[in-house]
Amino acid sequence: MTNSGQADSPAPAEHAQPQCAPAVRALPRRRQDELDEQWMRLALAEADKTAPGDVPVGAVVIGPDGNVVGRGSNRREADGDPMGHAEVIAIAQAARVVGDGWRLEDCTLVVTLEPCVMCAGACVMARVGRVVFGAWSPKTGACGSIADVIRDPAHAFTPQVRGGVLADECSIPLRAFFESQR
Ligand SMILES: [Zn+2]
Repeated sequence: MTNSGQADSPAPAEHAQPQCAPAVRALPRRRQDELDEQWMRLALAEADKTAPGDVPVGAVVIGPDGNVVGRGSNRREADGDPMGHAEVIAIAQAARVVGDGWRLEDCTLVVTLEPCVMCAGACVMARVGRVVFGAWSPKTGACGSIADVIRDPAHAFTPQVRGGVLADECSIPLRAFFESQR
């Protein structure tokens, strides 16, 4: 893993306007940037809890009042579950806490690595209002890298997306993991 927020990544426009996400109250940009970094540090703390043998990725879901309503770290190897990604675990937990059972329109999902096709799809299907991610994932990322599942205009609901938040910090545990696998 050598990526760490390269400038040549096919970056989504920061703070891209949603097509259908009424979601997530707009804050002044600088305040939102500070919050995103604070939240990313919470996601990094979740990544630290990743079971040995799993790629260290952490996610949190922030509820409408700014509190954490879901958290998760990657457990694919630990649970033998192909769907055991940090985002899916955090989204499932958040849906039990807020919303009308599954819609997370007023929530922000914050994850240390660009979501894959499955997780980007889960964000769309859960109607997560806003998605913030850290490091880019050139080989699996579905928020601009290999595809842009999350903002495919064919979807009835399109989350806002911001990528590259604390990208260098987020890539450190990933790099260490992959170097240890060699
Ligand atoms: Zn995933």
